[in-house]
Amino acid sequence: MAQPASTYRAVHAVGPGQLELAKKPLTDPPLGHVRIRVEACGVCHSDTATVEGVFPIQWPRVPGHEAVGRIDAVGDGVEGWAVGQRVGVGFLGGSCGHCLPCRNGDLVSCQNQAYTGVQHDGGYAEVMIAKASGLMSVPDDLSSAAAAPLLCAGLTTFSALRNSSAKAGDLVAVLGIGGLGHLAVQYARHMGFEVAAIGRGADKANLARKLGAHHYIDSAATNPAEALQAFGGAAVVLATASAGRAAADTVKGLRPRGEVIALGATEDPIELSSFDLLFSSRSVKGALTGTPATGDATLKFSVLSGVEAMIETMPLERAAEAYAKMMSGKARFRMVLTMA
Ligand SMILES: [Zn+2]
Ligand SMILES: [Zn+2]
Repeated sequence: MAQPASTYRAVHAVGPGQLELAKKPLTDPPLGHVRIRVEACGVCHSDTATVEGVFPIQWPRVPGHEAVGRIDAVGDGVEGWAVGQRVGVGFLGGSCGHCLPCRNGDLVSCQNQAYTGVQHDGGYAEVMIAKASGLMSVPDDLSSAAAAPLLCAGLTTFSALRNSSAKAGDLVAVLGIGGLGHLAVQYARHMGFEVAAIGRGADKANLARKLGAHHYIDSAATNPAEALQAFGGAAVVLATASAGRAAADTVKGLRPRGEVIALGATEDPIELSSFDLLFSSRSVKGALTGTPATGDATLKFSVLSGVEAMIETMPLERAAEAYAKMMSGKARFRMVLTMA
């Protein structure tokens, strides 16, 4: 019988902006972990944490936190997951189960949770090791490439909307029609909201409507807050664009007790006057991806409603090119690496 290969191919970051193809030795999954044969991995802007060293990082490190593949080995102490099962791994590397947030059921805020592809190797690889408590279950109706971007971009927007104060029929605005935004518009429409998409320029109007937006607001031509108020005021604005000023500019478009939820990862400050908040009791808050169970729901809801990420695939060995295309802003809208 042929021995299974003892190495696998991975693309790792070796220094700022440098991605290289490498061979790595196959290892057994440790306690509480599984080993996955990766079939697809999305390229996310947060991969800059690893590739550019935005987060403290120890190179070499394999980025990638939108990984889908099949379990091929199960470590000791893992229950509920089996060899052959297709699973997804997102940004949150698996909660600990014993810290205070975990014991309160707030798995996203676990204090002992590593970030996939940051503190340990991620999905730009044929094989990865993942903690079982962070796994998501991938339905058969989704291809691995289609499921991959839903594990971060999808989960982030789906979870924020699902946990927001908006109810069916309420006006929900999506600021930015990019990797996150093009999914957020679809989810908002299928969750039963009145959807306003806010983009810069008239050229995205058709796309926004095709994705399900009832209204398109061109922020280059109109004041978005005034436009939202003309529709009655938004219950929720999902700020998916990485621009603090643009997010701040939507606050006056909220109805009383409305909320802006910041999802775009940026250092750009969101500058507000407290008057913008206290009159009408508005709020601005953040949301970090979601729990694994919400990830399962994201994938299931996507199948049920036909929500899809617009993707461009590239084979693993072209990871540097896929990453560069994502960074250039020219990806429409998510790059996905595929493994043969
Ligand atoms: Zn991400
Ligand atoms: Zn914990």
